[in-house]
Amino acid sequence: MRLSKYYLPTLKEKPAHAKIISHQYSLRAGLIKQIASGIYTWLPLGLRVLKNIEDIIRDEMDKSGTIEVLMPCVQPASLWRESGRYDDYGKEMLRIKDRHEEDMLFGPTHEEVATDLIRDVVKSYKDLPLCLYHIQWKFRDEVRPRYGVMRGREFLMKDAYSFDVDYESAQNSYNLMYKTYIKIFKRMGLTPIGVRADTGPIGGNLSHEFHILANTGESTLYYDNKFSELLESEDVESLKSIYAVADDMHNPKTCLVPQEQLNVSKGIEIGHIFYFGDKYSKPMKASVTSQDGKNVNIHMGSYGIGVSRLVGAIIEAFHDDKGIIWPESVAPFRIGLINLQPKVTEAADKIYKALKSDEVLYDDTEGSVGVKFSRMDLIGLPWQIIVGKKAVSENIVEVKNRATGEVKEMQIEEAINHLSAK
Ligand code: ATP
Ligand code: MG
Repeated sequence: MRLSKYYLPTLKEKPAHAKIISHQYSLRAGLIKQIASGIYTWLPLGLRVLKNIEDIIRDEMDKSGTIEVLMPCVQPASLWRESGRYDDYGKEMLRIKDRHEEDMLFGPTHEEVATDLIRDVVKSYKDLPLCLYHIQWKFRDEVRPRYGVMRGREFLMKDAYSFDVDYESAQNSYNLMYKTYIKIFKRMGLTPIGVRADTGPIGGNLSHEFHILANTGESTLYYDNKFSELLESEDVESLKSIYAVADDMHNPKTCLVPQEQLNVSKGIEIGHIFYFGDKYSKPMKASVTSQDGKNVNIHMGSYGIGVSRLVGAIIEAFHDDKGIIWPESVAPFRIGLINLQPKVTEAADKIYKALKSDEVLYDDTEGSVGVKFSRMDLIGLPWQIIVGKKAVSENIVEVKNRATGEVKEMQIEEAINHLSAK
């Protein structure tokens, strides 16, 4: 992509209202533009990151055997009256009336729609287990939208819904999602901590939030440092057995982890998995015939990931004072090619042509060298190829690794090979 033909509105100054680094950088690097409180347009660069995050999630969900659907944003209130949640949900729900005076709403979540989706079709234990997911925009009229895409009102979520005939089977579905989440977050370069979460009246131990560590996180995590060690193994039962909780779930009196082994850090919630039994299937009459001929309510769980929140969370995890440092797996482009002066255009064009154009953002603009360098650092592409006057005189360019800051001089062909091979 040639920058001269792209749409990348970057900002030099930090916007006064943006308090945390991910909010500042996502505005400054031209990822998003706010149009109302907690509502954003995704600009071309931000959209590429969002899609990369979606792709990783979709790939791992598909590999786990979960099946993708797409449920609508706008839902009829009648479904929520069936589950009993319409009145309970409160002011976070955006309520709408259609032209027939029917009560509608912009979905803050999709348990009701998912239950309705299967209830007329899934009738036998033989149809189960089943797990469906979608990636869809939600609206929650948050009291305090803040921190940019981290707490928006309109935000993108991946939410999955599992259906099982009994508790044992539901546990397997739950554990599979736990494991899948670890894989997803690791692929984004993140270190997820699965903390035990409140199960409310459902009880049991099948509710976990996934957090990443960040000083600006809204939650306080308390966890045994064995958790990070065990993450490599992806052994769900062992991970679940380790002490890891957030905020009010921590009780110093019952916590048996020795002080020196207990980590206390701020975290950002990026996902939540939850088994809730027949909370929806019972009132909404979603049941199957079990193997021994009984009519049983379907056991359900739901599994959310904050897709748009992850864009902010990843920036919180990976940045320096110059800008964002994208992990390769989610970077909007892998390579930034900088043409420093008109004299080297021929050489820079040649490099651009030799690389896959979809992986390269080519700064072919006429701006000053300083502007070009700082913009490229700000948007945080993993690799930079800097084409200066040595490209003409000695066939040499600089290859910079954004994360380490290491700069190496290379022959043009060597630079092309080096970055193509990655
Ligand atoms: P929080 O406690 O942060 O409000 P939640 O418990 O309401 O989150 P869930 O209903 O479990 O969240 O939603 C699943 C995921 O969606 C969360 O783990 C989070 O990553 C994301 N999410 C929730 N609310 C928002 C929001 N307002 N903006 C962006 N992402 C959100
Ligand atoms: Mg919330």
